[in-house]
Order: sequence, then C-alpha cells, then structure tokens
Amino acid sequence: MATSPQFLGHDGLNYLNEIRRIGERAGLEIPRASTLAEIIAGASDRDDAHGEDPLWCPVPGDSDLDAIRELRERLCEALFGDQGADVCSRLTLIALDYSLIPALNSDGCLTVHTNRGDVAGRFASRLVPAAMALVSERLLARIRFCADLWCRSPFLDRTRNGSAMCCSARCSARLRKRRFRAGESRAHEEGISA
Ligand SMILES: [Zn+2]
Repeated sequence: MATSPQFLGHDGLNYLNEIRRIGERAGLEIPRASTLAEIIAGASDRDDAHGEDPLWCPVPGDSDLDAIRELRERLCEALFGDQGADVCSRLTLIALDYSLIPALNSDGCLTVHTNRGDVAGRFASRLVPAAMALVSERLLARIRFCADLWCRSPFLDRTRNGSAMCCSARCSARLRKRRFRAGESRAHEEGISA
C-alpha cells in the first residue's frame, strides 16, 4: 500500500523485485526464478509440487504487475477510501473475488487458502485477511500516515500511547534532520534580522 498513487502522488510497484519484497513480507515463499540451465534441464515443473502449500507462490512475472497493482488499489480503496463506505462489506467482496477459503492447518490454526494458483490470488490470501484483522481487532484507527513528506506511507502505530509519527527509523531520522535544518535556518534568519 505504501506505493499506492493514492498516497504518494507517484505510482510505485513497477518492478518484480517490489512484488517479491511485498510477498516475502506477507510470509509467502517465493522461489527464485529458474536459471536458463535449469529450464533447459527441465527443472521448471517444480511449481506443481507446491500447489497445495498455502504459503507457496509462483515466481512473479511481468504479467502479474497489473494484477498486484489492482489488488493493492482495491485494498486501499476499502480501507482508506470514502470514509462513509462500509469497510466490512468491501473487504468481504474482495475475499469472494479472490476465492479465499477459510481452512485449518495441521496445528489446528485458522488459515486462509485460495484455489487460485496465480500470484495475485496467493497475495490476496495473505493480504486480505491481514486487512480484515485491522478491522476486526479495531486497529483501523491506529493506521497513521508517515509524517515524513517524502514518504506519507500508511503504517500501523504499535506504540502503547499511539504517538508514532513515522513508518520507519529511516523516515524518523530524515524528519529529525529536516526539522533540525529548518530550526537552524530560522535561527540564522533571526540572527540576521536582530
Ligand atoms: Zn515513512
């Protein structure tokens, strides 16, 4: 969501390594792309062996970019779009569209499967339940937008008193540096006018 044009004014998510990073952060196991030697040796059928594993995801290709961007925009719209809209029914509709199915794993824990084998379906099976958990655990009000103007990414404020301002240590260092510089130049101007 951090790369959505809704937030940043620029449309990120143009490269396969961005997709891979999002998938891995969502807990998916994405194999590396086959090397030419492996393709020639006929090793590319390894995808089929993992089809039943809910955490497995096929290697993303350029044709998956549009589908992942669409999923991102649907989730952004559901969570942060028109405030009067029904977040619950919007998320439920997305779950239906991506054929998400509740299931129990071998430890008896509730998990979410999809019978879609494509990258977007696999991503949806991780990201839609995560978005739903924000609502069901009453965490939506804890979503903040990064105070660093170059970032503005939405993030979950995990601090006890709800005082987080930035999405990452990198952004908060950048913000501190900018404020320090602004304070310095103000002091300089005041020094000149005194
Ligand atoms: Zn940030």
